[in-house]
Amino acid sequence: MASDEKTKTPAKRYYRKRVELFRLIDKIKLWPSRRGLLHGIRTIETVGDQARITTHCNKTFVVTNSRNSRAARWLRNKWFSGVCSSCAVPEWKLKKYSSTQFKRHYGSLLLEDREVQGNSGK
Ligand SMILES: [Zn+2]
Repeated sequence: MASDEKTKTPAKRYYRKRVELFRLIDKIKLWPSRRGLLHGIRTIETVGDQARITTHCNKTFVVTNSRNSRAARWLRNKWFSGVCSSCAVPEWKLKKYSSTQFKRHYGSLLLEDREVQGNSGK
């Protein structure tokens, strides 16, 4: 895991802790494997409450949209021991991820525009 203390860090972004797993991974395109490796996500096909994820290293698996799943927790806590070398996750993406903060009462839930409350009705 590279430290980017010294280099310039991208602007912090804030997401809610309660953000849906699928919205989150669709945004950050990263997946922590059980072995602690961070993979880059190539495609996500969502069917109802399940999604088929394909990583850049050609692993395919089905996950459930749970905020409390292992992967959701690991993503929020940024637990990973390394980055998959086959996925070749670019440095900027890792920096963006490391500058992402998860807050209980503040930040985006990554809802689409039409789902955001108080639409202006123009
Ligand atoms: Zn990989």
